[in-house]
Amino acid sequence: FLARIAKLDPQLNSYITVSEQRALEQAATADALIQNGKGTSLTGIPIAHKDLFCTEGTLTTCGSKMLNNFIPPYESTVTSRIQQAGAVMLGKTNMDEFAMGSSNENSFYGAVKNPWNLDMVPGGSSGGSAAAIAAGLAVAATGTDTGGSIRQPASFCGITGLKPTYGRVSRFGMIAYASSLDQGGPMAKSAEDCAHLMQAMAGFDEKDSTSADTPSEDYLANLNAPLTGLKIGLPKEYFGEGLDSQVADIIMAAVKEFEKLGATVKEISLPNLQLSIPSYYVIAPSEASSNLSRFDGVRFGHRCDDPKDLLDMYMRSRAEGFGTEVQKRIMVGTYALSEGYYDAYYLKAQKIRRLIKEDFVKALDEVDVIMGPVAPTTAFGLGSKTSDPVAMYLEDIYTLSVNLAGIPAMSVPAGFANGMPVGLQVMGNYFAEAKLLNVAHQYQ
Ligand code: GLN
Repeated sequence: FLARIAKLDPQLNSYITVSEQRALEQAATADALIQNGKGTSLTGIPIAHKDLFCTEGTLTTCGSKMLNNFIPPYESTVTSRIQQAGAVMLGKTNMDEFAMGSSNENSFYGAVKNPWNLDMVPGGSSGGSAAAIAAGLAVAATGTDTGGSIRQPASFCGITGLKPTYGRVSRFGMIAYASSLDQGGPMAKSAEDCAHLMQAMAGFDEKDSTSADTPSEDYLANLNAPLTGLKIGLPKEYFGEGLDSQVADIIMAAVKEFEKLGATVKEISLPNLQLSIPSYYVIAPSEASSNLSRFDGVRFGHRCDDPKDLLDMYMRSRAEGFGTEVQKRIMVGTYALSEGYYDAYYLKAQKIRRLIKEDFVKALDEVDVIMGPVAPTTAFGLGSKTSDPVAMYLEDIYTLSVNLAGIPAMSVPAGFANGMPVGLQVMGNYFAEAKLLNVAHQYQ
Protein backbone atom coordinates (compact mmCIF):
# COMPACT_ATOMS: atom_id res chain seq x y z
CA PHE A 1 0.00 0.00 0.00
CA LEU A 2 2.79 2.44 0.85
CA ALA A 3 4.34 1.73 -2.57
CA ARG A 4 1.02 2.26 -4.36
CA ILE A 5 0.49 5.54 -2.50
CA ALA A 6 3.97 6.75 -3.49
CA LYS A 7 3.29 5.84 -7.11
CA LEU A 8 -0.34 6.91 -7.57
CA ASP A 9 -1.19 9.54 -4.99
CA PRO A 10 0.76 12.38 -6.61
CA GLN A 11 -2.03 12.36 -9.23
CA LEU A 12 -4.99 11.86 -6.85
CA ASN A 13 -3.89 13.92 -3.83
CA SER A 14 -6.01 11.75 -1.54
CA TYR A 15 -3.54 11.86 1.38
CA ILE A 16 -2.39 14.95 3.28
CA THR A 17 0.03 12.92 5.40
CA VAL A 18 1.43 9.44 4.82
CA SER A 19 2.59 8.10 8.19
CA GLU A 20 5.06 5.54 6.91
CA GLN A 21 6.96 5.17 10.17
CA ARG A 22 3.82 4.65 12.24
CA ALA A 23 2.44 2.21 9.64
CA LEU A 24 5.56 0.05 9.70
CA GLU A 25 5.65 0.00 13.51
CA GLN A 26 1.97 -0.90 13.73
CA ALA A 27 2.41 -3.58 11.07
CA ALA A 28 5.17 -5.16 13.17
CA THR A 29 2.90 -5.08 16.25
CA ALA A 30 0.11 -6.62 14.17
CA ASP A 31 2.41 -9.44 13.04
CA ALA A 32 3.24 -10.19 16.67
CA LEU A 33 -0.45 -10.15 17.67
CA ILE A 34 -1.37 -12.56 14.91
CA GLN A 35 1.52 -14.88 15.77
CA ASN A 36 0.25 -15.00 19.35
CA GLY A 37 -3.26 -15.77 18.15
CA LYS A 38 -4.55 -12.44 19.53
CA GLY A 39 -5.61 -10.69 16.33
CA THR A 40 -9.06 -9.38 15.44
CA SER A 41 -10.45 -9.17 11.90
CA LEU A 42 -8.84 -5.72 11.62
CA THR A 43 -5.37 -6.77 12.75
CA GLY A 44 -2.81 -5.81 10.11
CA ILE A 45 -5.41 -4.19 7.83
CA PRO A 46 -4.10 -0.93 6.29
CA ILE A 47 -6.55 1.88 7.03
CA ALA A 48 -6.54 5.63 6.44
CA HIS A 49 -8.14 8.28 8.65
CA LYS A 50 -9.84 11.49 7.61
CA ASP A 51 -7.56 14.30 8.69
CA LEU A 52 -9.95 15.60 11.33
CA PHE A 53 -9.48 12.68 13.72
CA CYS A 54 -6.77 13.70 16.17
CA THR A 55 -3.86 11.28 16.01
CA GLU A 56 -1.27 11.56 18.75
CA GLY A 57 2.07 12.65 17.33
CA THR A 58 0.80 12.79 13.73
CA LEU A 59 -0.08 16.04 11.98
CA THR A 60 -3.86 16.67 11.95
CA THR A 61 -4.81 19.58 9.69
CA CYS A 62 -8.58 19.34 9.13
CA GLY A 63 -7.75 20.43 5.56
CA SER A 64 -6.87 23.90 6.85
CA LYS A 65 -3.89 26.21 6.90
CA MET A 66 -5.08 27.05 10.43
CA LEU A 67 -3.91 23.61 11.61
CA ASN A 68 -0.91 23.31 9.31
CA ASN A 69 1.32 22.85 12.38
CA PHE A 70 -1.04 20.96 14.72
CA ILE A 71 0.37 17.74 16.15
CA PRO A 72 -2.24 16.53 18.63
CA PRO A 73 -1.06 15.40 22.07
CA TYR A 74 -3.90 12.86 22.23
CA GLU A 75 -5.72 10.29 20.13
CA SER A 76 -9.40 10.37 19.10
CA THR A 77 -11.58 7.56 20.43
CA VAL A 78 -12.32 6.28 16.91
CA THR A 79 -8.68 6.04 15.81
CA SER A 80 -7.66 4.67 19.17
CA ARG A 81 -10.26 1.87 19.05
CA ILE A 82 -9.30 0.98 15.49
CA GLN A 83 -5.66 0.94 16.51
CA GLN A 84 -6.41 -1.29 19.49
CA ALA A 85 -8.10 -3.73 17.12
CA GLY A 86 -4.72 -4.00 15.41
CA ALA A 87 -5.30 -1.98 12.23
CA VAL A 88 -2.37 -0.22 10.61
CA MET A 89 -2.71 3.51 9.97
CA LEU A 90 -1.36 4.44 6.53
CA GLY A 91 -1.96 8.15 6.91
CA LYS A 92 -4.44 11.01 7.02
CA THR A 93 -6.73 11.74 4.12
CA ASN A 94 -7.51 14.98 2.35
CA MET A 95 -10.82 16.74 2.99
CA ASP A 96 -12.67 20.00 2.54
CA GLU A 97 -11.42 22.53 5.06
CA PHE A 98 -13.16 21.90 8.42
CA ALA A 99 -15.41 19.43 6.52
CA MET A 100 -17.23 22.27 4.77
CA GLY A 101 -17.91 21.27 1.21
CA SER A 102 -19.27 18.70 -1.20
CA SER A 103 -16.42 18.42 -3.69
CA ASN A 104 -13.13 18.44 -1.79
CA GLU A 105 -12.16 21.59 -3.63
CA ASN A 106 -12.10 23.59 -0.37
CA SER A 107 -8.95 21.92 0.97
CA PHE A 108 -5.90 24.09 1.72
CA TYR A 109 -3.88 21.08 0.48
CA GLY A 110 -5.44 21.12 -2.99
CA ALA A 111 -8.37 19.36 -4.61
CA VAL A 112 -8.63 15.56 -4.70
CA LYS A 113 -9.26 13.88 -8.07
CA ASN A 114 -11.83 11.17 -8.67
CA PRO A 115 -9.96 7.94 -9.51
CA TRP A 116 -12.65 6.99 -12.09
CA ASN A 117 -12.01 10.18 -14.05
CA LEU A 118 -9.30 12.62 -13.04
CA ASP A 119 -11.28 15.61 -14.36
CA MET A 120 -14.07 14.95 -11.87
CA VAL A 121 -14.43 15.73 -8.17
CA PRO A 122 -14.46 12.80 -5.69
CA GLY A 123 -17.23 14.44 -3.64
CA GLY A 124 -16.75 15.84 -0.16
CA SER A 125 -15.96 16.48 2.46
CA SER A 126 -14.46 12.98 3.02
CA GLY A 127 -13.24 12.94 -0.60
CA GLY A 128 -9.70 11.84 0.23
CA SER A 129 -10.95 8.76 2.10
CA ALA A 130 -13.32 7.80 -0.74
CA ALA A 131 -10.73 8.34 -3.48
CA ALA A 132 -8.04 6.43 -1.56
CA ILE A 133 -10.30 3.39 -1.17
CA ALA A 134 -11.53 3.49 -4.78
CA ALA A 135 -7.93 3.65 -6.05
CA GLY A 136 -6.71 0.84 -3.79
CA LEU A 137 -4.59 3.16 -1.65
CA ALA A 138 -6.25 1.92 1.57
CA VAL A 139 -8.46 -1.07 2.36
CA ALA A 140 -10.86 1.11 4.31
CA ALA A 141 -11.00 4.53 5.88
CA THR A 142 -12.81 6.64 8.39
CA GLY A 143 -14.95 9.57 7.35
CA THR A 144 -17.31 11.99 9.01
CA ASP A 145 -20.76 13.04 7.92
CA THR A 146 -22.35 16.31 9.03
CA GLY A 147 -24.61 16.68 6.02
CA GLY A 148 -23.55 13.90 3.64
CA SER A 149 -19.76 13.85 3.79
CA ILE A 150 -19.47 10.06 4.05
CA ARG A 151 -22.33 9.13 1.72
CA GLN A 152 -21.84 11.58 -1.14
CA PRO A 153 -18.12 10.91 -1.75
CA ALA A 154 -18.84 7.18 -1.36
CA SER A 155 -21.48 7.54 -4.08
CA PHE A 156 -19.19 9.57 -6.38
CA CYS A 157 -16.28 7.12 -6.00
CA GLY A 158 -18.26 3.86 -6.12
CA ILE A 159 -17.54 2.65 -2.60
CA THR A 160 -19.67 1.87 0.48
CA GLY A 161 -20.08 4.31 3.38
CA LEU A 162 -22.15 4.35 6.56
CA LYS A 163 -23.21 7.38 8.58
CA PRO A 164 -24.26 5.91 11.94
CA THR A 165 -27.02 7.20 14.22
CA TYR A 166 -25.97 10.43 15.94
CA GLY A 167 -24.26 9.36 19.16
CA ARG A 168 -23.38 5.81 18.06
CA VAL A 169 -19.73 6.62 17.30
CA SER A 170 -17.75 8.83 19.68
CA ARG A 171 -16.92 12.37 18.61
CA PHE A 172 -14.08 12.64 21.15
CA GLY A 173 -10.99 13.87 19.33
CA MET A 174 -12.89 14.67 16.14
CA ILE A 175 -12.36 18.31 15.21
CA ALA A 176 -15.83 19.83 15.45
CA TYR A 177 -17.72 21.39 12.57
CA ALA A 178 -21.39 21.30 13.68
CA SER A 179 -21.54 19.33 16.89
CA SER A 180 -25.24 18.39 16.82
CA LEU A 181 -24.84 16.88 13.32
CA ASP A 182 -21.25 15.53 13.12
CA GLN A 183 -20.89 11.76 13.13
CA GLY A 184 -17.93 9.55 12.25
CA GLY A 185 -18.36 6.34 10.31
CA PRO A 186 -16.70 3.69 8.15
CA MET A 187 -15.95 3.81 4.42
CA ALA A 188 -14.82 0.70 2.51
CA LYS A 189 -15.38 -1.34 -0.62
CA SER A 190 -18.25 -3.35 0.87
CA ALA A 191 -20.87 -3.34 3.62
CA GLU A 192 -19.11 -6.34 5.15
CA ASP A 193 -15.89 -4.35 5.51
CA CYS A 194 -17.86 -1.45 7.01
CA ALA A 195 -19.36 -3.91 9.52
CA HIS A 196 -15.87 -5.01 10.59
CA LEU A 197 -14.93 -1.36 11.20
CA MET A 198 -18.16 -0.69 13.12
CA GLN A 199 -17.33 -3.58 15.47
CA ALA A 200 -14.33 -1.53 16.61
CA MET A 201 -15.64 2.05 16.23
CA ALA A 202 -19.13 1.96 17.71
CA GLY A 203 -20.11 2.10 21.34
CA PHE A 204 -20.48 4.31 24.36
CA ASP A 205 -17.67 6.67 25.24
CA GLU A 206 -17.75 8.60 28.50
CA LYS A 207 -15.48 11.24 26.93
CA ASP A 208 -18.28 12.32 24.56
CA SER A 209 -21.27 13.83 26.37
CA THR A 210 -23.60 13.02 23.44
CA SER A 211 -22.41 9.42 23.10
CA ALA A 212 -25.34 6.98 23.21
CA ASP A 213 -25.27 4.89 26.37
CA THR A 214 -26.85 1.86 24.70
CA PRO A 215 -24.93 -1.30 23.86
CA SER A 216 -23.77 -1.50 20.26
CA GLU A 217 -24.94 -4.42 18.14
CA ASP A 218 -22.97 -7.25 16.61
CA TYR A 219 -22.72 -5.79 13.12
CA LEU A 220 -21.49 -9.02 11.54
CA ALA A 221 -24.03 -11.44 13.00
CA ASN A 222 -26.99 -10.64 10.73
CA LEU A 223 -25.26 -9.77 7.46
CA ASN A 224 -26.63 -12.91 5.84
CA ALA A 225 -30.21 -12.70 7.12
CA PRO A 226 -32.69 -12.98 4.23
CA LEU A 227 -34.62 -9.87 3.19
CA THR A 228 -37.98 -11.61 2.76
CA GLY A 229 -40.73 -9.26 3.91
CA LEU A 230 -38.45 -6.20 4.14
CA LYS A 231 -40.60 -3.08 3.72
CA ILE A 232 -38.93 -0.41 1.59
CA GLY A 233 -40.26 3.13 1.40
CA LEU A 234 -39.51 5.33 -1.60
CA PRO A 235 -40.06 9.01 -0.75
CA LYS A 236 -41.69 10.68 -3.72
CA GLU A 237 -39.81 13.90 -2.96
CA TYR A 238 -36.51 12.08 -3.68
CA PHE A 239 -37.48 11.44 -7.29
CA GLY A 240 -38.66 14.89 -8.33
CA GLU A 241 -37.17 17.77 -10.23
CA GLY A 242 -33.38 18.08 -10.27
CA LEU A 243 -32.66 14.34 -10.21
CA ASP A 244 -30.55 13.20 -13.17
CA SER A 245 -32.71 10.73 -15.13
CA GLN A 246 -29.84 8.24 -15.54
CA VAL A 247 -29.26 8.28 -11.78
CA ALA A 248 -33.00 7.71 -11.24
CA ASP A 249 -32.91 4.68 -13.59
CA ILE A 250 -30.03 3.10 -11.67
CA ILE A 251 -31.81 3.62 -8.34
CA MET A 252 -35.06 2.10 -9.64
CA ALA A 253 -33.12 -0.88 -11.05
CA ALA A 254 -31.55 -1.41 -7.62
CA VAL A 255 -34.97 -1.29 -5.96
CA LYS A 256 -36.17 -4.00 -8.40
CA GLU A 257 -33.28 -6.21 -7.23
CA PHE A 258 -34.52 -5.84 -3.66
CA GLU A 259 -37.99 -6.91 -4.78
CA LYS A 260 -36.39 -10.04 -6.26
CA LEU A 261 -34.81 -10.62 -2.84
CA GLY A 262 -38.28 -10.65 -1.27
CA ALA A 263 -38.79 -7.01 -0.29
CA THR A 264 -41.98 -5.04 -0.83
CA VAL A 265 -41.93 -1.43 -1.97
CA LYS A 266 -44.30 1.44 -1.25
CA GLU A 267 -44.31 5.13 -1.96
CA ILE A 268 -43.97 7.35 1.09
CA SER A 269 -43.69 11.09 1.65
CA LEU A 270 -41.11 13.21 3.45
CA PRO A 271 -42.91 16.49 2.86
CA ASN A 272 -40.33 18.83 4.38
CA LEU A 273 -37.35 17.69 2.29
CA GLN A 274 -37.12 21.04 0.49
CA LEU A 275 -36.62 22.78 3.83
CA SER A 276 -33.57 20.73 4.74
CA ILE A 277 -31.15 22.93 2.78
CA PRO A 278 -32.17 26.27 4.31
CA SER A 279 -32.45 24.72 7.77
CA TYR A 280 -29.06 22.95 7.58
CA TYR A 281 -27.28 25.96 6.10
CA VAL A 282 -28.38 28.01 9.12
CA ILE A 283 -27.77 25.42 11.86
CA ALA A 284 -24.42 24.08 10.61
CA PRO A 285 -22.77 27.50 10.12
CA SER A 286 -24.18 28.68 13.47
CA GLU A 287 -22.56 25.79 15.32
CA ALA A 288 -19.41 26.20 13.22
CA SER A 289 -19.11 29.88 14.11
CA SER A 290 -19.12 28.90 17.78
CA ASN A 291 -16.84 25.85 17.41
CA LEU A 292 -14.27 27.68 15.31
CA SER A 293 -13.95 30.57 17.75
CA ARG A 294 -11.28 28.52 19.54
CA PHE A 295 -8.86 29.09 16.66
CA ASP A 296 -7.53 32.44 17.76
CA GLY A 297 -3.79 32.10 17.30
CA VAL A 298 -3.23 31.88 21.06
CA ARG A 299 -3.04 28.25 22.17
CA PHE A 300 -2.52 26.27 18.99
CA GLY A 301 -2.79 26.53 15.24
CA HIS A 302 -1.72 29.31 12.91
CA ARG A 303 -0.52 32.59 14.39
CA CYS A 304 0.24 35.63 12.23
CA ASP A 305 3.72 37.16 12.23
CA ASP A 306 4.49 40.18 14.44
CA PRO A 307 1.05 40.99 15.86
CA LYS A 308 0.68 44.63 16.95
CA ASP A 309 -1.68 43.76 19.78
CA LEU A 310 -4.13 41.04 20.84
CA LEU A 311 -6.92 42.11 18.49
CA ASP A 312 -4.54 42.32 15.55
CA MET A 313 -3.35 38.80 16.38
CA TYR A 314 -6.89 37.40 16.47
CA MET A 315 -7.91 39.12 13.29
CA ARG A 316 -4.88 38.40 11.15
CA SER A 317 -4.40 34.83 12.43
CA ARG A 318 -8.01 34.00 11.52
CA ALA A 319 -7.96 35.90 8.22
CA GLU A 320 -4.78 34.09 7.16
CA GLY A 321 -5.62 30.68 8.62
CA PHE A 322 -9.17 30.15 7.32
CA GLY A 323 -10.10 29.74 3.66
CA THR A 324 -12.97 31.54 1.89
CA GLU A 325 -15.73 28.97 2.48
CA VAL A 326 -14.91 28.71 6.19
CA GLN A 327 -14.89 32.50 6.59
CA LYS A 328 -18.21 32.73 4.76
CA ARG A 329 -19.82 30.19 7.08
CA ILE A 330 -18.42 31.83 10.22
CA MET A 331 -20.00 35.10 9.09
CA VAL A 332 -23.34 33.47 8.21
CA GLY A 333 -23.41 31.64 11.54
CA THR A 334 -22.43 34.67 13.59
CA TYR A 335 -25.16 36.66 11.87
CA ALA A 336 -27.80 33.97 12.45
CA LEU A 337 -26.93 33.77 16.16
CA SER A 338 -26.73 37.48 16.79
CA GLU A 339 -29.26 39.30 18.92
CA GLY A 340 -32.30 40.30 16.93
CA TYR A 341 -31.75 37.66 14.24
CA TYR A 342 -31.61 34.57 16.45
CA ASP A 343 -35.39 34.03 16.48
CA ALA A 344 -35.79 34.71 12.79
CA TYR A 345 -33.06 32.33 11.64
CA TYR A 346 -31.59 29.94 14.19
CA LEU A 347 -34.76 29.26 16.17
CA LYS A 348 -36.84 28.89 13.00
CA ALA A 349 -34.27 26.48 11.54
CA GLN A 350 -34.46 24.39 14.73
CA LYS A 351 -38.27 24.21 14.40
CA ILE A 352 -37.93 23.02 10.82
CA ARG A 353 -35.40 20.47 12.01
CA ARG A 354 -38.06 19.05 14.34
CA LEU A 355 -40.55 18.78 11.44
CA ILE A 356 -37.99 16.93 9.32
CA LYS A 357 -37.29 14.53 12.16
CA GLU A 358 -41.01 13.88 12.64
CA ASP A 359 -41.39 13.10 8.92
CA PHE A 360 -38.77 10.35 9.28
CA VAL A 361 -40.20 8.98 12.53
CA LYS A 362 -43.61 8.69 10.90
CA ALA A 363 -42.26 7.10 7.72
CA LEU A 364 -40.12 4.61 9.65
CA ASP A 365 -43.21 3.51 11.54
CA GLU A 366 -44.56 2.17 8.27
CA VAL A 367 -41.43 0.85 6.54
CA ASP A 368 -38.16 -0.80 7.62
CA VAL A 369 -35.85 1.20 5.39
CA ILE A 370 -36.12 4.18 3.07
CA MET A 371 -34.31 4.16 -0.26
CA GLY A 372 -33.42 6.86 -2.76
CA PRO A 373 -30.45 8.46 -4.47
CA VAL A 374 -27.53 9.84 -2.42
CA ALA A 375 -27.05 12.81 -4.71
CA PRO A 376 -28.99 14.25 -7.64
CA THR A 377 -26.07 13.79 -10.04
CA THR A 378 -22.95 11.72 -10.55
CA ALA A 379 -19.54 13.30 -9.84
CA PHE A 380 -19.28 16.67 -11.56
CA GLY A 381 -16.29 18.37 -13.19
CA LEU A 382 -13.55 19.92 -11.08
CA GLY A 383 -14.19 23.67 -10.94
CA SER A 384 -17.68 23.41 -12.45
CA LYS A 385 -19.57 24.51 -9.32
CA THR A 386 -16.98 26.46 -7.35
CA SER A 387 -18.37 29.85 -8.37
CA ASP A 388 -22.00 28.90 -7.68
CA PRO A 389 -22.52 28.15 -3.97
CA VAL A 390 -26.24 27.50 -4.42
CA ALA A 391 -25.58 24.80 -7.05
CA MET A 392 -23.02 23.29 -4.67
CA TYR A 393 -25.42 23.34 -1.69
CA LEU A 394 -28.17 21.73 -3.84
CA GLU A 395 -25.91 18.69 -4.17
CA ASP A 396 -26.75 17.96 -0.52
CA ILE A 397 -30.54 17.84 -0.94
CA TYR A 398 -30.88 14.07 -0.30
CA THR A 399 -28.34 13.77 2.49
CA LEU A 400 -28.82 16.73 4.88
CA SER A 401 -32.19 15.70 6.30
CA VAL A 402 -30.71 12.42 7.62
CA ASN A 403 -28.28 14.39 9.81
CA LEU A 404 -30.99 16.82 10.92
CA ALA A 405 -33.05 13.80 12.06
CA GLY A 406 -30.02 11.92 13.47
CA ILE A 407 -30.87 8.59 11.80
CA PRO A 408 -28.31 6.24 10.18
CA ALA A 409 -27.90 5.95 6.39
CA MET A 410 -25.61 4.28 3.89
CA SER A 411 -24.39 4.78 0.36
CA VAL A 412 -24.21 1.49 -1.52
CA PRO A 413 -22.69 1.24 -5.03
CA ALA A 414 -25.57 0.60 -7.46
CA GLY A 415 -24.12 1.00 -10.95
CA PHE A 416 -22.87 3.63 -13.36
CA ALA A 417 -24.50 6.59 -15.04
CA ASN A 418 -22.76 9.10 -17.30
CA GLY A 419 -19.71 6.81 -17.00
CA MET A 420 -19.43 7.46 -13.24
CA PRO A 421 -20.51 5.51 -10.14
CA VAL A 422 -23.96 5.96 -8.55
CA GLY A 423 -24.74 5.28 -4.90
CA LEU A 424 -28.07 4.02 -3.60
CA GLN A 425 -28.97 5.61 -0.28
CA VAL A 426 -30.47 3.30 2.36
CA MET A 427 -31.82 5.06 5.45
CA GLY A 428 -33.03 3.34 8.59
CA ASN A 429 -34.38 3.82 12.06
CA TYR A 430 -32.33 5.02 15.04
CA PHE A 431 -29.64 2.45 15.94
CA ALA A 432 -30.58 0.18 13.00
CA GLU A 433 -27.03 0.10 11.62
CA ALA A 434 -26.93 -3.72 11.64
CA LYS A 435 -30.14 -3.80 9.58
CA LEU A 436 -28.70 -1.33 7.03
CA LEU A 437 -25.49 -3.36 6.73
CA ASN A 438 -27.57 -6.54 6.26
CA VAL A 439 -29.66 -4.90 3.52
CA ALA A 440 -26.56 -3.59 1.72
CA HIS A 441 -24.70 -6.89 2.08
CA GLN A 442 -27.56 -8.90 0.56
CA TYR A 443 -27.59 -6.58 -2.45
CA GLN A 444 -23.81 -6.73 -2.85
N1 GLN B 1 -21.71 19.46 2.06
C1 GLN B 1 -22.16 19.75 3.37
C2 GLN B 1 -21.48 21.01 3.88
O1 GLN B 1 -20.76 21.57 3.15
C3 GLN B 1 -21.90 18.60 4.29
C4 GLN B 1 -20.49 18.45 4.71
C5 GLN B 1 -20.28 17.39 5.74
O2 GLN B 1 -21.07 16.45 5.87
N2 GLN B 1 -19.23 17.54 6.52
O3 GLN B 1 -21.66 21.42 4.96
